[in-house]
Amino acid sequence: MKITGVETTAVQVPMREPLKWAGGTRHTASGLVVEIATDEGLVGIGECPGPTLPTIQTVVERELAQFLVGQDPLRVDWLVHRMEEFTRNWSQLGVYAIAGLEIALLDLKGKALDVPVAELLGGFCRDEVRFAGYLFIDEPEAVAERAAEFVEAGYDELKLKVGRDLGQDHDTLAAIRDRVGSDVKVRIDANMNWSVPAAIKWIRTLERFDLQYVEQPVPDFDLEGLAQVRRSVAVPIAADEACTDLRSVLALLRAEACDVFVVYPSEAGGLTRASHIAALADAAGKWCAIGSWAELGVATAANVHVVASSSNFPFANDTHYPLQDGDVLDEPLPLEGGRIDALRAPGLGVALDPDRLERLARLELRQSVFYDDVQGEAPRIGQIL
Ligand SMILES: [Mg+2]
Repeated sequence: MKITGVETTAVQVPMREPLKWAGGTRHTASGLVVEIATDEGLVGIGECPGPTLPTIQTVVERELAQFLVGQDPLRVDWLVHRMEEFTRNWSQLGVYAIAGLEIALLDLKGKALDVPVAELLGGFCRDEVRFAGYLFIDEPEAVAERAAEFVEAGYDELKLKVGRDLGQDHDTLAAIRDRVGSDVKVRIDANMNWSVPAAIKWIRTLERFDLQYVEQPVPDFDLEGLAQVRRSVAVPIAADEACTDLRSVLALLRAEACDVFVVYPSEAGGLTRASHIAALADAAGKWCAIGSWAELGVATAANVHVVASSSNFPFANDTHYPLQDGDVLDEPLPLEGGRIDALRAPGLGVALDPDRLERLARLELRQSVFYDDVQGEAPRIGQIL
């Protein structure tokens, strides 16, 4: 079997409502859908979520497709290695493109061998994958109401965005605990917006709400600062923005900076590399959770395969999927009550709907995800002292 072509479609899906977090307000989910065609008629589908779709699309089509066309698609590791070497000194951009292509190669390989992608990643470790109810910054009572709705629907873990206003964060956690009680696990994510002293002070203040863990309290580049926060509080610390590829995980381990790694296959450079991060974390006695770029159905299904095939994702994982209004799949993913059964059909186990893909096709120039339309003084991460 030989690869005959690589096609991409940039897609944008609206959110059901605007989602406010420390770094801005999200109105849409967007991704680059990738289709790899072969001379035997099999097509593999993938998705690159990422920060700059026009660039990622160019990288896929004009830089990386040349390494795939004419090649045997079953040699996934060899193809990925070639692309990684080619993008070595611009790997921060290259990973997103490689990730989407690797997902498509694994989908293709699964279809060719008649096995689900999880089987290619080591086999099933669990029958279902859990997701957390995702809560954003809003009035405390409004957030608590959404929290209660998630719990009523069957979710048993919640994730709350914090980091803009400390009083509001406190009151929101109080309102959530008041509504959902103490059995539901709640973690918070400050998205790098606290300074080191602020993080220590505020995590100590908020730990009375029994936090599962705190995600990326301080800026991503400050591993020493993250380690200092970790040593100073009793709540586990998760690295998110600081956790990207395998090398970043090695740096975090050396700095003893975190207890949990928030893993993004898109930032790791594919599902295999994400699985490697989970294995490395396991060897170091650490834990993993999947993070969310607001993946569409293809990449969300891919995430399900990573978690289903690993023993090191003990927490409910992140997803924006229930908050998105539409998808590119022919059937929406069966995410019910915070759970999705492991996908057992060959490949990713999902299929594109060509009409929906065409209808949602739009090349996004990135919204102001980092800070709303701020006038005047330039905002920065780690700004809250
Ligand atoms: Mg995060």
